[in-house]
Amino acid sequence: GGNRSFRLRALADGDGRCIVLLDDVTQAKATERMRVDFVANASHELRTPLATLTGFIETLQGPAAEDEPARQRFLAIMAQEADRMRRLIDDLMSLSRIELDKFIRPSQPLGLAGIAAEVARTLAMRLDADQRQLLIEEAAGLPPVLADRDQVLQVLHNLVSNALKYGRSGTPITVTLAAAGEMVRISVRDIGDGIAPEHLPRLTERFYRVDSQRSRTMGGTGLGLAIVKHIVERHRGRLEIDSRQGEGTVVSFTLPVAP
Ligand code: ADP
Repeated sequence: GGNRSFRLRALADGDGRCIVLLDDVTQAKATERMRVDFVANASHELRTPLATLTGFIETLQGPAAEDEPARQRFLAIMAQEADRMRRLIDDLMSLSRIELDKFIRPSQPLGLAGIAAEVARTLAMRLDADQRQLLIEEAAGLPPVLADRDQVLQVLHNLVSNALKYGRSGTPITVTLAAAGEMVRISVRDIGDGIAPEHLPRLTERFYRVDSQRSRTMGGTGLGLAIVKHIVERHRGRLEIDSRQGEGTVVSFTLPVAP
């Protein structure tokens, strides 16, 4: 279904005859549309915190100039908004860096348990603050994978962050590492509200969120899963999102075993 787009080309063959060529440009147009939408969305996302900052700057220059408690409150909000902009710019930079290479060529075999432990250390304060535990379950004799260390770190960091943001306070987050033929499967499981099935196919779209307000309050950029999907595909792996409403979510991805 759907409309297709064609580009028409007429070529003279030199003997007074004419050849007409039809190029199917449907895919090219869709790609261009996505690029335009992406730039528009990114600009909008950056403009929102910027508007808040501008508003508070004006208030600090005028009515709140002499009100010290108000000044302190406003400055704290401004710091938060600046932080949101920084996160968004970091994520945009990650996406464009990943998009440069179609497939990556890592040279070193990589042990995943160490990566999971590193993510646990990086997020220790946030895990503690929400009384969450990160459990790492590694299958015995798990082989190393062929993958870019920083990129795998980013994937796991994004998935555990999501489990933290959207899972229930006080419940554990489990990272499971298991062999699956020529691949290793890494799963991140949380206990929480889960995601309604109609959203699942769209979660890896840039800026797609089930609940924008909740994502913003939790400090989300809407780019986390888009980055995850890009990185996994560049490793020729697969990403799967499985969720039950009222129970929780499991996000899994595979990476190739190192030869
Ligand atoms: P965000 O920065 O908004 O978290 P992501 O791309 O990481 O962006 O995720 C997109 C959306 O998918 C989130 O806004 C949230 O609605 C949903 N989501 C992602 N992970 C989970 C999870 N573990 N549990 C429930 N919902 C999730």
